[in-house]
Amino acid sequence: MLQNFVRVRFAPSPTGPLHLGGIRTALYNYLFAKKHGGTFILRIEDTDRKRFVSNSESYILETLKWCHIEPDEGVGYGGPYYPYYQSERLNIYRYYINQLLEKGYAYYAFDTDIDQKRKEYNDRGLTFSYNYRIRMDMDNSLTMTKKQLHAKLQSCSSYVIRFKTQPGEKLNMYDLIRGNIIVDTDHLDDKILLKSDGVATYHLANTIDDHLMKITHVLRGEEWLSSMSLHILLYRSFGWIPPHFAHLPLILRKDGKGKISKRNADSLDYPIFPIQWKVPETQIIIPGYRELGYFPESFVNMLALLGWNPGIKREIFSLQELINFFSLEKINKSGVFFDLKKANWFNKKYLNKNKKEIFSFLCEKLKKVSIFCKKDYLWKIIHITIDRIYFVHEIWEHSFYFFISPNSYESNFFNKICHQKSIDQLENAKILLSHTSQFTSLNLRNLFQEDRKNRHKIMQLFRLALVGVLKGIDIFMILEMLGKEESIQRVEKLINKIKEKI
Ligand code: GLU
Repeated sequence: MLQNFVRVRFAPSPTGPLHLGGIRTALYNYLFAKKHGGTFILRIEDTDRKRFVSNSESYILETLKWCHIEPDEGVGYGGPYYPYYQSERLNIYRYYINQLLEKGYAYYAFDTDIDQKRKEYNDRGLTFSYNYRIRMDMDNSLTMTKKQLHAKLQSCSSYVIRFKTQPGEKLNMYDLIRGNIIVDTDHLDDKILLKSDGVATYHLANTIDDHLMKITHVLRGEEWLSSMSLHILLYRSFGWIPPHFAHLPLILRKDGKGKISKRNADSLDYPIFPIQWKVPETQIIIPGYRELGYFPESFVNMLALLGWNPGIKREIFSLQELINFFSLEKINKSGVFFDLKKANWFNKKYLNKNKKEIFSFLCEKLKKVSIFCKKDYLWKIIHITIDRIYFVHEIWEHSFYFFISPNSYESNFFNKICHQKSIDQLENAKILLSHTSQFTSLNLRNLFQEDRKNRHKIMQLFRLALVGVLKGIDIFMILEMLGKEESIQRVEKLINKIKEKI
């Protein structure tokens, strides 16, 4: 039913980088649009110039690209509802605010003592709220004749325009995720729609744009749920049909200290930016998921399941599969906790699909140290070590010993084995190695496992000789990979090192 008709928008304010919540909002909008053959729009809500951060826009565009969730229309993509920057639509907002003024849904307010009033209320333990109870005691057009207003507008350059909330209504609203919501309009204040600098506030611009851009569904963060009533009242005042609303659950910090935000980016022990962000004031670069080695596919997969579930017991989905399965009904109502371990698990799951990247990474690394290997050898190494890594770059710390003979040894263990007995054991092992005709892990295992008494020790000695540390994959596999000659050389090297020491 929604086919070819859904129009959704991602409408970030350019106040810095996107965090996990922001990019997830974009993703859900994208998935919803694609699921219904609709249009995904990018609108930049930049009316608040004080909070403007110049490189945020390019950051947003680059992030969407990296995640493969590019808009069909909007900033950077063009479209029939141009311009998609709110800062270029100020005249449109002025035109529409005049309609509200004429119909009596908005009024001029000239008050200069609001801060003072707020303080007075505070001192009395009350909260000041510019609402229907006090507006008739304030300096605004509701308390003036037409003539007085005219004179005031002539003499006073600074005013704001406020929405005139009608009290006494139980406003019935519907959120696609949360269901029915009832708001008592007595509790709403008269929000500013046009600021004293003549610029529309978020509420006014957002409502007008969603209407003019024919947005059918507004999917946005839960932090905007409290604004929904004002937005519904604005649509009604204009005589427009509101879009459907769906407020997405917050992404919460695991430490229970509320939602994640850009402000606590430094104090968190997990990254919250999709791609790196250069802090304009300090030029400090905060790495994002991209720089830390997460694949965009795994990042997107993880993010999609952070607040939504497909209703089946499966966790790995390609973008197309996410589109197929996506539905608003299966979005959580309550906040979701972010789990870095799970994010890493997702990345691991995507390693197999990205083996070529691991291959290129290894080639680069080897080129830098002037080591040249056969392709087959590299692929084999990737196959036998991939289980141990979560990220492409981790391949090196799990495979360096296949290329470089150790020059030093883990000192704790080395000191323990610095005696003649170890030399004898290594010498014996060396003889066995040199007499093995079929140098395969299977053969070698059978050979060395026979000596039940010493096999544990000899395996450790081999590990030290071949790897340098007590780490690495199955030791017989390492022997097979290195081959007879190299293995024996490494064993001899350790023997000599022990001899030097004792
Ligand atoms: N500009 C708002 C933000 O940055 C958009 C809210 C909305 O989607 O309505 O979150």
